[in-house]
Amino acid sequence: MSCEIRPARPLARHNVARVFCAIFALMDTDTASSPERSDFIRDIVAADLREGRIDSVVTRFPPEPNGYLHIGHAKSICLNFGIANEFGGRCHLRFDDTNPVKEEQEYIDSIEADVRWLEFDWGEHLYFASDYFEQLYEWAVHLIKQGKAYVDDLSADEIREHRGTLTEPGKESPFRERSAEENLDLFERMRAGEFPDGSRVLRAKIDMASGNINFRDPVMYRIVHATHPRTGDAWCIYPSYDFAHGQSDAIEDITHSICTLEFQDHRPLYDWFIENLPVPSTPHQYEFARLNLTHTVLSKRVLLKLVNEGHVRGWDDPRMPTLSGIRRRGFPAEGMRDFTDMIGVARSDSVVEVEMLEHAVRGVLNRQALRRFAVLNPLKVVIENYPEGQVEDLEATNNPEDESAGTRQVPFSRELWIERDDFMEDPPKKFYRLSPGREVRLRSAYFVTCSEVVKDASGEVVEVRCTYDPDTRGGAAPDGRKVKATLHWVSAAHAVPAEVRLYDHLFGSAYPGADGRELFDDLNPDSETVLRDCFVEPAVADLAVGETIQFERLGYFCADSDSAPGAPVFNRTLTLKDTWAKLQAQGRQNTA
Ligand code: ATP
Ligand code: MG
Repeated sequence: MSCEIRPARPLARHNVARVFCAIFALMDTDTASSPERSDFIRDIVAADLREGRIDSVVTRFPPEPNGYLHIGHAKSICLNFGIANEFGGRCHLRFDDTNPVKEEQEYIDSIEADVRWLEFDWGEHLYFASDYFEQLYEWAVHLIKQGKAYVDDLSADEIREHRGTLTEPGKESPFRERSAEENLDLFERMRAGEFPDGSRVLRAKIDMASGNINFRDPVMYRIVHATHPRTGDAWCIYPSYDFAHGQSDAIEDITHSICTLEFQDHRPLYDWFIENLPVPSTPHQYEFARLNLTHTVLSKRVLLKLVNEGHVRGWDDPRMPTLSGIRRRGFPAEGMRDFTDMIGVARSDSVVEVEMLEHAVRGVLNRQALRRFAVLNPLKVVIENYPEGQVEDLEATNNPEDESAGTRQVPFSRELWIERDDFMEDPPKKFYRLSPGREVRLRSAYFVTCSEVVKDASGEVVEVRCTYDPDTRGGAAPDGRKVKATLHWVSAAHAVPAEVRLYDHLFGSAYPGADGRELFDDLNPDSETVLRDCFVEPAVADLAVGETIQFERLGYFCADSDSAPGAPVFNRTLTLKDTWAKLQAQGRQNTA
């Protein structure tokens, strides 16, 4: 892998890149030392262009529409579309819809929405492997006529038994030597629907003794009597991934067919089909390491199970690592893209800390998110010397990181809500927030001093009474005196009640299912905490669904689609604490 982080986005790149690369350099001996390289795939593309092997680069993102896209797919999307954009080529969106049993239109729609959300554009290049079924069929016939494919009557289990192992060669099927005529006849009848599911397959006739198991007469077609989302009941035989993928690439003039490492052993087969068929172009396959994240499972199969078993509320549950989930949670697409820039593209598998993704997201939100006041766990404050019935509109900064975001008016009055955690009747030494006799600043408002505590029969504090200093309007004292804490607040008469949902890792363990544990035993029972008695300032009440803001001192929050007029619901996107910085410091120690 290369350690160069492309200079495309202005995130705190240098520290990030240096430490991350130092860590990976230890893991990956393939690391190139030449600093001008970006990553090994971009190098290959650049060389192919420079040396005239291709005129322009054509890539594709080829999802199977059998689930929603996850964060791992985003890496592939950013790589494929990124390369096309950087080298002036194009990237296709191709649905690999060859298995009608698991595929649905809902997934097709969600995948398109997710790629668009990441702000990539396939233009007119939207394709479906199913559009090529007729051509693929003709090519299968071509191989049969060449004596390079045959219809096998063995069952799936028998085929598996005949396949052999890594140390033992496979056994040839008794149907392997059928004549081309007989194979053509049977294959036509397979297509015509004469045979039940699983009764026959079409296999390439290559080498049952090959050291590469993928060469041991791989299956090209299966009989599946199922209605396809696009081709309906036109077909009852469907091509395998291995047979469909490379040929689809060739039809579309793909130059670089980029996939994850588990397909490395399939590459010779990919090339075999291309060499043995009259395809219109010669694509090549390149493999990179898939993204793995701590506390996260990136597998559509597992995500589907989480949905189906009700561990989450749906594919777009804010705890899900799907792109629709993180979008609902409030992650900006730019943060996702920045993250893929940070991790780069490697040739060997690794696990990236999810805190690094969160760090990238915070970087974007810190620059962009408007600051607002909200109180999640409210405690009443009454300002005794503030006139009853008076309301002042105080000016508050929308975003200290972005002057152009301007200011807003926040209503202030005699009764306020503050955070219960910000008050202690009997504080320990290092607690600087509100307590009896203590003066603190209310952000953008006044200095207040706690004069009295009101408790209920059980002894719980239900109200704090304060006095304010009218000379400290805006939050500064003319005599220059300082306070040690600044609290957020909401005027009780103006506060809008809100529901706030706090999120934590869906899987409590950094490595879910590791060390022989049941995967779902690692689910975090506290991944969601719902707070129903929160208050937000009026400016937040009608925030657009999907918009992410910062509730000062609390974190980033996104208006959820469950919001109703006057009853907003917010998802906590992230807290403000950047734990990746800490991990980074540890990494620096480890690699020093
Ligand atoms: P899953 O294992 O979640 O089912 P998949 O590989 O079967 O994923 P596809 O729809 O076939 O899902 O994937 C489309 C593209 O995304 C493929 O090129 C695949 O290699 C890539 N991809 C899938 N998961 C990851 C990942 N974790 N990191 C990087 N790329 C990925
Ligand atoms: Mg797949």
